[in-house]
Amino acid sequence: MTARHELLVRPELHTLGDILRHYVVRRADSPACTELDSHGDEVATLTYAELEERVRDTAALLQQVAAPGDRAVLMLPNGIDFVVAFFACAYAGLIAVPAPAPDGIHGGRRTLGRLEGIVKDADPTVVLTTAEHAASPLLADLGAVEPVVVADVPAGLGGLWRDPGVQSGDPAFLQYTSGSTSAPKGVVLSHGNVLANLAAIAIHTGASECSADEYQVVSWLPIFHDMGLAQLLGALYNGGRVVLLPPMALLMRPFVWLDAISRFRGRVSSAPNFAFDLCVEKVSPEQRARLDLSSWRFALNGAEPVRYGTLTGFLEAFAVAGLAPDSFRPCYGLAEAVVYVTGARRPGDAACVDVDAEALEQRGEILPAAADRPSRRIVGCGRIPANLDVRVVDPETAAPLEAGRAGELWVAGDSVSAGYWRQPEATAARFSGRLAGAPDVTYLRTGDLGFVRDDQLFVLGRIDDLIIVDGRNHYPTDLELTVGTSHPAIAPNLVAAFLYGEERRHLGVVAETARQVRITRDEAAPGDGPAVRYADVVSAVRRAVAEEHQLHVDSLILLRPGALPRTTSGKVQRKRSRDLLPDGGTKAW
Ligand code: ATP
Ligand code: MG
Repeated sequence: MTARHELLVRPELHTLGDILRHYVVRRADSPACTELDSHGDEVATLTYAELEERVRDTAALLQQVAAPGDRAVLMLPNGIDFVVAFFACAYAGLIAVPAPAPDGIHGGRRTLGRLEGIVKDADPTVVLTTAEHAASPLLADLGAVEPVVVADVPAGLGGLWRDPGVQSGDPAFLQYTSGSTSAPKGVVLSHGNVLANLAAIAIHTGASECSADEYQVVSWLPIFHDMGLAQLLGALYNGGRVVLLPPMALLMRPFVWLDAISRFRGRVSSAPNFAFDLCVEKVSPEQRARLDLSSWRFALNGAEPVRYGTLTGFLEAFAVAGLAPDSFRPCYGLAEAVVYVTGARRPGDAACVDVDAEALEQRGEILPAAADRPSRRIVGCGRIPANLDVRVVDPETAAPLEAGRAGELWVAGDSVSAGYWRQPEATAARFSGRLAGAPDVTYLRTGDLGFVRDDQLFVLGRIDDLIIVDGRNHYPTDLELTVGTSHPAIAPNLVAAFLYGEERRHLGVVAETARQVRITRDEAAPGDGPAVRYADVVSAVRRAVAEEHQLHVDSLILLRPGALPRTTSGKVQRKRSRDLLPDGGTKAW
């Protein structure tokens, strides 16, 4: 890359191991990571000195069982052992492969499926895990190799550690994608890729404007997903502390997340859109009044489409807790570029734009909305950092598009991976975009659509999910929002819209029902709880979608709570939702 792309935030750091070696000298006795249980009670805290010692011990052990470049699967829950194992891989020159560790509650099909896929694909030499998993038949079933129990690594081994001479271009870890559109793919990320991305995140989150003690990051996000891992790395890159909560804490008691931010004076804490809605819904006014969220300067909202109503609703609900009005930051990114692509804001940047629906959907043109015409509101996902080159491109011709037109987002820069693990075809398809007329730079083709306006990026959705009817492009998220608010029996964020049938001309919707409602075919159904007639829901959905989008919903399937196909990070899987239709959605009916 040219010098233009370099962000000189911490130029002395070249590998992930350098991060620990840097701070063990400067911040030896400061807390590096704290583990909380699902009630928010502290389990343990390690200082930089304690963390580095455990990392060195574990790395020395790993060097006895694996060689540099071997893969080490990390099958560990959110917590300190994960942090130790991850950095031990960096110290030993192994390629870390974060994977979910199924537990009693979270050991469902989704988690197991992801774990199996990862273990099979990564072809590991070693699995770093807990005593419980090491003793369970799960690992043997997966055909995986000898486990290493991270908590049992003997202290004092560190003297045997030998520096393997890791270089910035060496692979540091495989980040598996979420699996929203197909099976998760292992993105190979080098140390250099990751440090470049951490530099951009540090600039965005104003790391130089606060002391390392103030750089506190609170995370309940699954640590094996890109956003969860980035939170941990972002904290340590800036010499701060990461406070880790189990993901279940959020789902069961969202208050625990906010309370941890309040108690640990969290500066950065990120989540996908649904988590913010959940807080508004589940945290009572009394609980809100007990929180102090004044330290929370960076509530990053990314990984999924950001809704304007979520942004305003959240700020309004938590203003009483001292949440600053500019703290809510929509971001865009993907695993193929480590995690972060855009997010930075300047004072005066628009939070959203209202655009003319017809111009957007028929011609991909961005025109200001007029009062008497249908419009779409799109949330701004921030500015492009100096070390990334983001282009809006016509996906058919590879021609760059001028501002004011929607197209595919292409990304080049230091944090873009070289490709997928052992998938040359998928790598060639995604990672070798060349702009028409300027073929010397290769770009990552994100598969996402968006546009740039006033230096800000606006994300519309994925090309593969587009609902094209009569030459008009509808974004499923727009339809899903309409469906989710059309009838109280539907859970607002748990809707999937897609085309089905032989020629993909029929519009299908699969949605979860809200908790507490019972859907019946007739009015006099037995049972507790308010009964809702299926026919009433269908008419409400059809009416709303016809009014808002001039489309007819051909079929609507309502699922019980928890049944909508989603990834382990909670993203709706539209293709898998379509599979739930009779004949797997291959026939119109
Ligand atoms: P897979 O690639 O396996 O299908 P995935 O694309 O969901 O799964 P990730 O890399 O974790 O896997 O997620 C990145 C994707 O998430 C982006 O390509 C984009 O589609 C979506 N995304 C991220 N941020 C936003 C945002 N702010 N608005 C809309 N979509 C977003
Ligand atoms: Mg993807």
